[in-house]
Amino acid sequence: MTGLALPPCDGRTRDEALSILLAEPLAPIVDLVAWTVEPGCYELASAFGRVRFQRLGGARSTLSDGFIVQDARGVNPVANQDPAHLGSLAAERATPHPLRDDNAYPFAFDHLAQIFDHPSAPDLVVLHTGAHYWGDQGGHLGEHGSLGVLQSRAPFIASGAGVRRSGMVDKSCRLVDVFPTVLSLLGFDPAVRSDESTELDGEVVHHVVEEPGGARHVIGILMDGTNPNVLYDLVARGDAPHLERLMESGTTHRHGAIASLPTVTLANHTAILTGRHPGHHGVLHNAWIDRSTGSQVVTNSPTTWAASMQWLSKGVETIHDAVHRARPGAVSISINEPCDVGADFSVFELVRRGEAVDRAPLPEDVPDATQRFVRPSKDYQWSSRIDHTAVEQFRGIWSGTYRGRSWERPTFSWVNFTLTDSAFHEGGPYSEIAAASVRDTDARIGRIIEAVDSTGALEETAFVVVADHGMQLADETVTGDWDASLRAAGIDVRDEGYGFLYLP
Ligand SMILES: [Zn+2]
Repeated sequence: MTGLALPPCDGRTRDEALSILLAEPLAPIVDLVAWTVEPGCYELASAFGRVRFQRLGGARSTLSDGFIVQDARGVNPVANQDPAHLGSLAAERATPHPLRDDNAYPFAFDHLAQIFDHPSAPDLVVLHTGAHYWGDQGGHLGEHGSLGVLQSRAPFIASGAGVRRSGMVDKSCRLVDVFPTVLSLLGFDPAVRSDESTELDGEVVHHVVEEPGGARHVIGILMDGTNPNVLYDLVARGDAPHLERLMESGTTHRHGAIASLPTVTLANHTAILTGRHPGHHGVLHNAWIDRSTGSQVVTNSPTTWAASMQWLSKGVETIHDAVHRARPGAVSISINEPCDVGADFSVFELVRRGEAVDRAPLPEDVPDATQRFVRPSKDYQWSSRIDHTAVEQFRGIWSGTYRGRSWERPTFSWVNFTLTDSAFHEGGPYSEIAAASVRDTDARIGRIIEAVDSTGALEETAFVVVADHGMQLADETVTGDWDASLRAAGIDVRDEGYGFLYLP
């Protein structure tokens, strides 16, 4: 299926597919379906109602007030867009699988519209319900990918130099806001871009920044797939003392930072590190169809991570590019992160050059690893070993000498921890394995803070801790596959990354 361009489907095929996807039998697994009616005009529907909305102003205005509702029928599927919905662990656990009226869909209009700005956008975006369990399709107890608040909400903690010490505040932001906020902390103007650079989607989170330029160094830490209600609860119980210390000297959003759609890993790692939504930075999903060739693109897999940034759109700066432009000669490093364009150090760059990477220790020798889960869980074991190498890389570079080269103290450092994602998937967000992954990762964060402290730079360093999406408990009794229903009706659908539907 390669070599032939794949144009958008015609209206008749789309209507046929919609009549199946939006019928009540699929309502337990199909939450929402979205498509573009014409450029700048979109429709979003559930089995119980639909809303048509139009983008105002510029071609890519992205804030919620940049849209108007043109028409609505039945129950508005995204009536509640409150990012604070289910904003405590108690509220979340009382409603672990909120369905439609009980759910919230933060930034629904802009987060859907941006997908259709990508030249290879699908014909239909299907968003699964919070309860949907993928079962034999490689599913997990913990899931994400949708627009619902528990899948899209990530933690947000900013701390240290230049950051306001407000403690826990009842606020939220978006993951695309991290990039301009980091630049502001470093004293760089996020509005100033290189000539060919595209518009940012994110904005500085001003209530977090006490003093623009107050930080000489910023360290960004990603705890992949961490549910913020669960994380903050573990901190409150004393299970994550290093994060607690960061929270005491900074600002934490109780309602986190909302991921862009699709709320999956690489699309949002890249959103954080470019300040742009997936439809604008180019890394659209874990997998999609390149419409110019009809070929499948896979980004988020161990065999494709190193080369995944070939899909970054032209003119998109990463945070590393922006740091170099604002402070020529500055060092900016990227640890265990596929979105590494412009970084002075990246493991994936070593992989691309065919150089040896540092060996991970044997499973039984990994420090800060809960052996009770390392032994039985292959994913826990692999992620623990990889995350330990992240700490070693960080400590090496910050010590001034690493891999036979001397290093200036980095202006920006990015560290990607994967253990939390694998554990939250495996056991679900409320499991003992998920809690263990937070404790282990907290210990690794402690080693990072210690490495900074040992250079004497802690007072001039800011930390930003986020995840790339949330994590919701699936309901093992709610299974099924909309592809099967479409194929049974004779529609030869290509469903990429789960939910990006390309119709014939
Ligand atoms: Zn992830």
